[in-house]
Amino acid sequence: MNSLEEYERLVKIGKEIHTLKGVAALLGWDQETYMPEGGSLARSEQLELIASLAHKADTSKRFSNQLQKLIDIESGKLKATDLSPEKKAALREWRKHYNEETKLPNSFVKSFAKLTSEAMHVWSVAKRTNSFQKFAPYLERIVAMNQKKAQLLGYKEHPYDALIDVHEPGMTKKQIDKLFGDLKSSLKTLLKKILTKKAPDTSFLKGEFSHDEQMKMGIYFLTQMGYDFKKGRLDISSHPFSTTIHPSDSRVTTRLDPKAFMSNISVVLHEGGHALYELGLPAEHFGSPLCEAVSLGVHESQSRFWETRIGQSRAFWEGYLPHLKKTFPQLSKVLLDKFYKAINLVEPSLIRVDADEVTYSFHVILRFEIECALLEGKLKVRDLPEAWNAKMQEYLALTPKTNSEGCLQDVHWSMGEIGYFPTYTLGNLYASHIFQGFEKAYPDYEKRLAKQDLAFIREWLRENIHRHGKRYSALDLIEKASGSIPFSSSAFISYLTLKYTSMEE
Ligand code: ZN
Repeated sequence: MNSLEEYERLVKIGKEIHTLKGVAALLGWDQETYMPEGGSLARSEQLELIASLAHKADTSKRFSNQLQKLIDIESGKLKATDLSPEKKAALREWRKHYNEETKLPNSFVKSFAKLTSEAMHVWSVAKRTNSFQKFAPYLERIVAMNQKKAQLLGYKEHPYDALIDVHEPGMTKKQIDKLFGDLKSSLKTLLKKILTKKAPDTSFLKGEFSHDEQMKMGIYFLTQMGYDFKKGRLDISSHPFSTTIHPSDSRVTTRLDPKAFMSNISVVLHEGGHALYELGLPAEHFGSPLCEAVSLGVHESQSRFWETRIGQSRAFWEGYLPHLKKTFPQLSKVLLDKFYKAINLVEPSLIRVDADEVTYSFHVILRFEIECALLEGKLKVRDLPEAWNAKMQEYLALTPKTNSEGCLQDVHWSMGEIGYFPTYTLGNLYASHIFQGFEKAYPDYEKRLAKQDLAFIREWLRENIHRHGKRYSALDLIEKASGSIPFSSSAFISYLTLKYTSMEE
């Protein structure tokens, strides 16, 4: 059998694994949208079964034997040297994933899963009742297990490297220290400057906005973005998300606030951006890493590209404010500039998910610094609330009144995720970095937005990001898309500085 035939056999096994993962995604989607309450116990059993089947398939002898024929799993040396560069890249990614999955012993994976499923429940009670004490013993064990996980996965410089690598392959603590360090100092200066100015009037963003009209608005914007409703849906869930069942079925949910319309629009652009990425992956490679998103940070760059770089731009609203006014006549007297300033209000706040573009990074930097200190043992879990509040004061001059709106606000740590938060800010940095390439390709993009033309954006992103799957590393991909500019945080910083300086005029 030649290399290509062996490769195709590997893809066939990969398809089965991805099909199982698609089933899990569908069960999860149903759980968050339409499942009756009574189904919840059975659903966790179903999800657990599928997850263990997928893990078994991922780490099976059948799979590793097939992979071993094409690449040496131990050393990474390619055996199938006659394959195309894409397929060689796929083999390297397959090997990396296989090693990750097998480095953690089954007993470790099982006890981690048991701990986090309890911890998530305890966390939700602790958050509701503002009781950090309840959650603390679980978080202590989660930190300890993450220290162990880092050891098992292995790293060169810092245990954090092993944990972030799972979500953002190749990224290290050292690189993040540099990126976040630059961000911190520039954004501090910018924030200070913005806060000396009078805050814009945002009163008209609140009012009565009908459920049905908001839902129609969601469908309208998704359609404008080029989201294909034959390959997706829009539904309601308490926490908005997007999920992929197959490259031909990627779904989006939103949350409707009857008193405010902007959150739905932001959510739809954000989740729609995630879904377009998944729908833009090359379906002909389904089952292989060539049909997988490259990293969480790049995924987030796609959502933030649409949500902030497009959806919070003046040109976009020059195009779409008339439509908004038609739907919600109470806005008919609002002028474009006033609207643009209102939706870009900068205001330090306690909750990450409600933060504006300028203060958002501080919420992530704070969590990153705390995670590193916990992993290094420099910070004890019992001192976490104090450390959190001190950083909140330092970065945003705020102190949470309760831990529920402080260190208990996010679900991630209860899920066992340490090393995840930086991908949110990396997403913003990547989006701005990529935008440099987009602007070069379409110097007149603002004119197009003002004419309600968005289709070209999807095409550009598809061509430069989506279709490549895991062909390139995250950094190689975004540097290529930007037109070979080395990655740094400077594109994001200059974008925000320019945006807010020109708003003053
Ligand atoms: Zn996102």
